[in-house]
Amino acid sequence: MALPLQPENFREYIREILDECGVNQPPVDLRRVGEYCFDLIYVEKFSLSEVEAIILPYRNRGYAIVNTNQTESHCRLTLAHQYYHFITDDHPLVRREGKVRLWSSRQTGQRDEKARIEAEANLFATELLVPTVMMEEHFHARYSARDVAYVFHVSRDVAQLAIDLRTIPDRRLLEFFFRVGVTF
Ligand SMILES: [Zn+2]
Repeated sequence: MALPLQPENFREYIREILDECGVNQPPVDLRRVGEYCFDLIYVEKFSLSEVEAIILPYRNRGYAIVNTNQTESHCRLTLAHQYYHFITDDHPLVRREGKVRLWSSRQTGQRDEKARIEAEANLFATELLVPTVMMEEHFHARYSARDVAYVFHVSRDVAQLAIDLRTIPDRRLLEFFFRVGVTF
């Protein structure tokens, strides 16, 4: 697996994990990715007040709990975002043994650090939900955010972002994300 996990290798990392768990068609089966690649236990709940999806650690594993009473695209985005926190151990709720710490050498202030981690998590989620490799296979020339949203089961916003990111080289992904000020 491509480590250390950094924005420059998100595309490669996600291509590898999708290969590993045999997910090669949109919409990306997040449940399969979570269970197979991250050893998560997947639980669907009808109502979780305001929560769309959350990962709760229990012993050495995590429970991915998805609120089926929320819109599918938002649940998927939230879950994919939480996967990033889970695998990088960057969320206070999430503790798991034996994982790499990211950005430990960064000298940024705490608030900057948090904003950066959130941007990374959103970038990771966008790439996981609309993987570059699948975009290339499914859309050869012309496509709209609406088409991408439909095929990948994401919101129009995420679809548009995925389209915009296509032409950005790996090493510029996070910078682009910050520049356009993406928030979901
Ligand atoms: Zn987050």
